[in-house]
Amino acid sequence: MFSLGRRATAAVTMVVVVILGVSLAPTIEARLGGGIGFDRPVDASAEPLALPPQVQTTGPHEFLREVDGEPVRYDPCAPIHVVVNPRTAIEGADEMLQQALDSVTAATGLTFVQDGVTDEAPSDQRGSVPGSQDPVLIAWSDPDEVEALEGSVAGIGGSVSTRGSPWFDTGAVTLDGPQLADVLRRPGGWVSARGVVLHELGHLVGLGHVDAEDELMAPRGRPGIDDWGPGDREGLAALGGDACREY
Ligand SMILES: [Zn+2]
Repeated sequence: MFSLGRRATAAVTMVVVVILGVSLAPTIEARLGGGIGFDRPVDASAEPLALPPQVQTTGPHEFLREVDGEPVRYDPCAPIHVVVNPRTAIEGADEMLQQALDSVTAATGLTFVQDGVTDEAPSDQRGSVPGSQDPVLIAWSDPDEVEALEGSVAGIGGSVSTRGSPWFDTGAVTLDGPQLADVLRRPGGWVSARGVVLHELGHLVGLGHVDAEDELMAPRGRPGIDDWGPGDREGLAALGGDACREY
């Protein structure tokens, strides 16, 4: 949960982390040479598209998943493709999302490419096929469509990885359009609503919640905490990297 406290119904979050429990059949493993069935993206590069910044700050941060002591993350050498379902999008949603994606890129080095709009509905089954190479779905939704958005939850975010893999395959962010439209009408509403989008994108790229008041990844939001805190930034920098995924 991420909320703005008692006076605000705003915000967010359940972390949806779908951890795939599906084992690849032996025949498939053999075909893949023991690897995981994720084809090299046609736009993958031989080196990182950008490096994370040298962070000067430290602070509490958590990762959604770790494998062998390293955070599970997206390949820094291939762009993360994103599609948007704008069904309940708030005014200025496109600009807000672009600002938020740019902020994540600046903090991680991870690159996003928007592939346009879709009418695909959010689903907790999304990405449940091992090695799914669907683009990330950012869906403007509401509690009628997604029960998890009931109450003060304004967004959900997370990514999927195949068991044992240190790489995310795809992910989703689902935002409560009507609730964020209410946030937008308040003084400072744009920054607050964008903070919700940032928080969910933080989950998308691999940050978990931290019990720290001045971090954006705190489970409950506070007025004035609408951008990354020092621990968030340290964690985000660790979610970029200098090593490419092997295919
Ligand atoms: Zn959260």
